[in-house]
Amino acid sequence: MSGHFTAPPPERGIFCNRTLNMRAIKAIGYDMDYTLVHYRVEAWERRAYEYIREGLLAQNWPVGHLAFEPELVIRGLIIDTEKGNLLKANRFGFVKKALHGTRPMGFEAQRTEYARTIVDLSERRWMFLNTLFSLSEACIYAQLVDLLDDGKLPGPMGYSDLYDIVRRSLDAAHMAGRLKAEIIADPERYVLPEPETALALLDQRNAGKKLLLITNSEWAYSVPMMHAAFDPYLPSGMTWRELFDVVIVSARKPEFFTTRSPLFEVVDTGGEALLRPYSGLLKPRTPYFGGSAVELERHLGLSGDEILYVGDHMFGDVHVTKNVLRWRTALILRELEDEVRAIAAFRTTEARLAERMVVKEQLEAESCQLRLELQRRRAHYGPRSQMPEDELLSRLTAIRTQLEALDAELGPMARAASELSNPHWGLLTRAGNDKSHLARQVERYADIYTSRVSNFLFASPFVYLRSPRGSLPHDPTLPGGTPVFPSTDATSGPNP
Ligand code: IMP
Ligand code: MG
Repeated sequence: MSGHFTAPPPERGIFCNRTLNMRAIKAIGYDMDYTLVHYRVEAWERRAYEYIREGLLAQNWPVGHLAFEPELVIRGLIIDTEKGNLLKANRFGFVKKALHGTRPMGFEAQRTEYARTIVDLSERRWMFLNTLFSLSEACIYAQLVDLLDDGKLPGPMGYSDLYDIVRRSLDAAHMAGRLKAEIIADPERYVLPEPETALALLDQRNAGKKLLLITNSEWAYSVPMMHAAFDPYLPSGMTWRELFDVVIVSARKPEFFTTRSPLFEVVDTGGEALLRPYSGLLKPRTPYFGGSAVELERHLGLSGDEILYVGDHMFGDVHVTKNVLRWRTALILRELEDEVRAIAAFRTTEARLAERMVVKEQLEAESCQLRLELQRRRAHYGPRSQMPEDELLSRLTAIRTQLEALDAELGPMARAASELSNPHWGLLTRAGNDKSHLARQVERYADIYTSRVSNFLFASPFVYLRSPRGSLPHDPTLPGGTPVFPSTDATSGPNP
């Protein structure tokens, strides 16, 4: 390996679901919040939470004692708005873990409620936590469900009415401008600086890619945020405005990708920004408001597979973009860094767990055979061995004892595995032994995913990202579950 190449730490990798040749990408669109600008999640969400709480206090709700609990919820959970529950589902939509309000649901209660239910996010009942901006609303919703159950909220009110109220309060907090004004006044408190992002985008721009900013934030908020995130780290004399060929604010994603909304030119007079209806080709260095992806494609003269859109919102940035327009998509998942580190730290235990599971499976297989032998013998059919019945029975008993001992050993390891990264919910991308519902959406809608935009720096604008072969249950594996086949498709792609 040449001295110029620094491999990124594992958690800063770019992970690939569908092969993506960055050289074939002509334009890269970026979302702003939690994509180009990363917030200190706890600080921002606590503040948003407090705004919701204030709104409810003003309506005389007894919520003054409530406080934001950052560990209570994670992105990728699902709110069951009909039942007041927080859920983690696996890739098929089966519920694997549930809280009612903030209280864990027992195994039986969970089974009674969800054994016949498949979570289908297209139904209104389920609200998926798409982004880190969802944490405040989910946290306070869970706490309010407890209060509702205790008869402490004004009634009559159902769990879904309660959800609507929380949703409206959070909308108001985001829109009203007071919260945003606080962020603008004190960016250091809320924004995590990431000096390398500017260089990653400069690399892309100088490699001939058009850069687009497409954000739902308003112009008045986007300017100070982009200024703080980029201008200190760009060559002197350059500002974030020169990095981007197209800037679209108040984009109204996901509608931006699905409908044709009117386009306005933002005329920034230095004070109030004015909006002027606009049609025709986009002018350089002019910010726009609204519009639609279809028009943008036409303006750029590019087809969907030549445009990569990078965002953090599972539905608004990635799902719709892929489904409707077939743009190439990248999901920014900051939590991935913790996730990858937690998995790595657990590797030794994971290996022991896998090794003990092999023993368990062998014992279980033997026990099945012995039981079948006894059954055939007692019912006088089929081929049977010569082993005396009492020997069969004592072997069965011995196996049962061994299995109990194994389970006692496995239990704490399995519990530790289920509490990795978050004590209530475990890993973001796993549900039980399976992929989580979030992981399923990532693989469906995001061609690539990575923890932060600056990870493109390691990959360069010329990278050819190859998807792994993917495994299926019938693939041969080595002990411990390692696939026998190599994991990358080395047969396609350009010469370096
Ligand atoms: P983007 O990620 O750059 O597209 O911008 C997200 C924008 O949506 C930010 O201005 C947020 O304040 C805003 N936002 C995020 N969540 C909500 C919400 O629940 N209601 C209203 N606005 C939101
Ligand atoms: Mg965003």
